[in-house]
Formats: sequence, structure tokens, C-alpha cells
Amino acid sequence: MEYTALYRKFRPLSFNEMVGQTHITKTLKNQINAGRIGHAYLFNGGRGTGKTSAAKIFARAINCLNPKDGEPCNECEICKAILQGSLTDVVEMDAASNNSVEDIRAIRDEVNFLPTLAKYRVYIIDEVHMLSTGAFNALLKTLEEPPEHVKFILATTEPQKIPTTILSRCQRFDFKRISNDDIIKRLKIVCKESNIKITEEALKTIAVLSEGALRDALSILERCMQEDSDIDAEKIKEMVGIPKTETIYKIVNNIINYNAEGALEALDEVLYAGKDLQNLLWEIIKYIKDILIFKTTNETGIYSKEEIEKIEELAKNTSKERLVNLIYSLSETRKRYEMVNTKRNNSTNRNNKIMC
Ligand SMILES: [Zn+2]
Repeated sequence: MEYTALYRKFRPLSFNEMVGQTHITKTLKNQINAGRIGHAYLFNGGRGTGKTSAAKIFARAINCLNPKDGEPCNECEICKAILQGSLTDVVEMDAASNNSVEDIRAIRDEVNFLPTLAKYRVYIIDEVHMLSTGAFNALLKTLEEPPEHVKFILATTEPQKIPTTILSRCQRFDFKRISNDDIIKRLKIVCKESNIKITEEALKTIAVLSEGALRDALSILERCMQEDSDIDAEKIKEMVGIPKTETIYKIVNNIINYNAEGALEALDEVLYAGKDLQNLLWEIIKYIKDILIFKTTNETGIYSKEEIEKIEELAKNTSKERLVNLIYSLSETRKRYEMVNTKRNNSTNRNNKIMC
């Protein structure tokens, strides 16, 4: 059987199944219920926040033969055909690869024809900010006098790159970053249905790493589940190349106790394992920040019980001033390192050019 990626397999099929965007799904459902559908929408938001999923659900809901409460039934012939991607009335286009005037002109010529089976022709244009100036002008003409049977859904991660003339003709919806709690909730469902055993800390780690993008969370989960064993936080960190918390603790503990030799030894261990110095510095800074946060607010991030005990102990043995100073000087080191690295890369590029 063909393998389906988790994010495809668990793509929401109704507005109710969507995660963390109720402010949008509610309005869309109300519009569909009331028969007050706009002719152009702009779905704006970070990657993996559900823009394309919402666009596809919307395309089905307005064309469904038995819609219920603004939702598509997903069972009638129209819904099924859209789900299979065989209905020519719903067109998905990626503006990153189809951004020319001709691409949009083709749509402009097409919109005058009535839909073949469905009530509405729906054009979903992804990454719409990638269109060329000419293409935007062509699109504008269509948006100015759209036929009654045509709907546009434009999706973007960078609305500031879209001409205001286009923006002013669209109803805009801003998709939020999905909260860690919502991501964890969804991951739990996915794990349960896919028989994946995972610890609570591992779920938290994935949520933090995915930075509000559910699709990223599902890809991290997918990359970690190839083996038979349970997934724990360490495995995820290993997978995405983050040094273990235990190692970071060793380095920071030695720094805080003024043990330069011990700190260097622990540092060597990590670098020997092939971890990147810049990432490592970032992890150390983050860890010290977490100690400072714990010292000030008593709150901890994504740590296990044992790890929290260690943070507690480090917080007790250090002053806030010392922690602030450490964060400052390590950040400076990281910045300098970054600068040297970029310079080195630039000069290598230059040399390569000269050689060519
Ligand atoms: Zn249907």
C-alpha cells in the first residue's frame, strides 16, 4: 500500500476538525449558512497553520449537495470528486511555480465558462505573493468584475508583498500560530489513531520545536517514529540535532561553578559528536534563560521532573545578575561567531567566483 504522510492522512476534512482557528472557521460557516459568500478571500498566516486545508474545505462546503451547518458532507458526488482531485471546477494553483501573466490569463479566459458539475468554480492560489507584476494586473482585472459563479481563495505567508489594489478586493482572514496546547492535543489524537507510543515530554518538545505550525509538528513526529520503541524527548532532540539536555546541563553547571576545565571537556564531547557550535551556543543561552525565568517566576519550560530539579539547584546557587551577565556575554560570542562565519562563507564564494 502506498505510504501517506501523516499530515496528509490527518488533514482536517471539516471546519470543526481544524485546529486553533475557530475565529475564522466560525465566520466562514456563518457566511455559507447565510448564503453570503464573498467572491475573493485572502487567507494569510504562517506555514502549516491550515490555510490550504481551510480553502479546500470551503471549496467543498459551497459546492456540496448536502451541506450541514456550513460544513461539507464529504460524501456526495461533488465532495468526493473534489477530495479525489478529479473535479475540474476546483483548481489549485501554486503561484511559486505558475507566476507568469500567461498563467493568470488562462484563468481569466476560463472564468467566463460555467462550471461543469459544481455550482461554483473555485480557484485556490497558493503563495499568491509570488505572482509577477503583470500577473497581478491580470488577476486584478478578473477580481474587478468576477462572474457570479467564480470564487477566489488567495493564500499567502507574506501579505505585504501583495498590491493594495488586490488586497482591497478580498476578505482577509489572518490565521494564527497554533498554540502549543492545541498542537499537543492534535498530536495525541494522531498518536492514538496510529498506535504511536510517545511520552508527554516528547509531545511538549515537538510542540515547542514546531513553532505554531501543525504540519511541522506532524513531520517531526513522523521522522521519529521509524523505530519500534516509544518516542521520548531525547529521541526527538537527537533526531533534530539538538544536544541532549543532560549535556547542556553539564556545560552550564561547570560554567556556573567556575570550572573551566570541566566546561571545556563537556563542550568537546558535544563538538566531537558533530554538533554545530552555533546551535550549541544557542541551546546553552536558552538553558541559562530558563534558569533565570525559573528564578524569577518559578515557571519551567519543556523539562522532565529530574531536569527541573537540576534547574532548581542551579537557580539556587546563582544570582540573577550572574545569569544575566552570562546570557549577555554568550550572546555576544554567538554574534561574533556568526559574523566570522558569514565573512568566511562570503570570501569563499568570492574566491569561487574569481576561480570561475
Ligand atoms: Zn457533499
